Amino acid sequence: MSNVVPSPAQTIDGRKLAAALRVRLKNHVDVLLNDHKILPSLAVVLVGDDPASHVYVANKKKAAEKVGIRSSVHQLPRETSQDEVLKLLHKLNEDARTHGILVQLPLPKQIDTATILRAIEPAKDVDGLTVQNAGRLASGLAGLFPCTPLGCLALIKSVRPQLAGLHAVVVGRSNLVGKPMAQLLLRENCTVTVVHSRSRDLDALTRLGDIVVVAAGKPGLVTAAGIKPGATVIDVGINRAADGTLQGDVDFAAVARVAGAITPVPGGVGPMTIAYLLANTVAAACRQHELTQPDFSI
Ligand code: NDP
Repeated sequence: MSNVVPSPAQTIDGRKLAAALRVRLKNHVDVLLNDHKILPSLAVVLVGDDPASHVYVANKKKAAEKVGIRSSVHQLPRETSQDEVLKLLHKLNEDARTHGILVQLPLPKQIDTATILRAIEPAKDVDGLTVQNAGRLASGLAGLFPCTPLGCLALIKSVRPQLAGLHAVVVGRSNLVGKPMAQLLLRENCTVTVVHSRSRDLDALTRLGDIVVVAAGKPGLVTAAGIKPGATVIDVGINRAADGTLQGDVDFAAVARVAGAITPVPGGVGPMTIAYLLANTVAAACRQHELTQPDFSI
């Protein structure tokens, strides 16, 4: 019997990677301002009083300002009608000084999310949620793609620069995370399996993965039994435990004994999501001014 004790997984530091990306972004914003007199600008639309949404929006605003992006928050009361939100979006679409528009989800019940997303000008859709940008991603064209999967891809590439031929398993198939993640990994020439709530034998499916990205919103869903030794594990889940602490979808302690590399929660995907929102805003500003779109991938 072998006495070899497996070495613990490398923890991928999302805060450190996000900080490095913000330095690149700040340099780019400085060039845009000094050489082209362009101030990249992000408008966030926040409807209602969901406390988590308010925290997320405040974090996005602070992060934008740190790299020199102008940000404005359009805060509307919970009872705002769909037409009023559409009117605001129309105004922001037409405003040449606004380069990026983000509607913070979820929206109150009286507002249809799909109708609102359809109303965002695709060139300003920094969350990458319009049908046009989703189609561009699926068709292999350039566009604005969802920030969380972009952040996950950068986290993966920080430890595995060559992805071609690797088997990637994505748990979750939302338009926000799972589907665009699968598309980005396909673009990298991975073999991709997408797992969802109707899939059978989660452990057997995730064990196929050299890379496993988990975005289900179910604390501790993926355990050591579902991980191939040496795999790269990206935990997107954010779940608040009864004691108020944040928990991912992956059993970190147990999986870290099997995986090759793993992201923590918090401090993994979260900071990268915000950094790529800023990257999308800078990219949108460049495209709207017919400048070459910078590449902020790793
Ligand atoms: P959704 O609820 O929209 O999607 C969850 C997905 O997980 C669905 O496709 C669902 O399947 C699947 N799923 C649920 N239960 C299981 C299961 N037991 N086995 C396999 N698949 C399952 O969530 P999001 O994609 O928006 O977000 C996922 C998580 O990521 C959440 O915790 C969210 O808070 C977090 N998040 C974190 C971000 C960050 O920056 N760190 C950003 C965005 C999200 P089905 O389609 O069949 O229902």
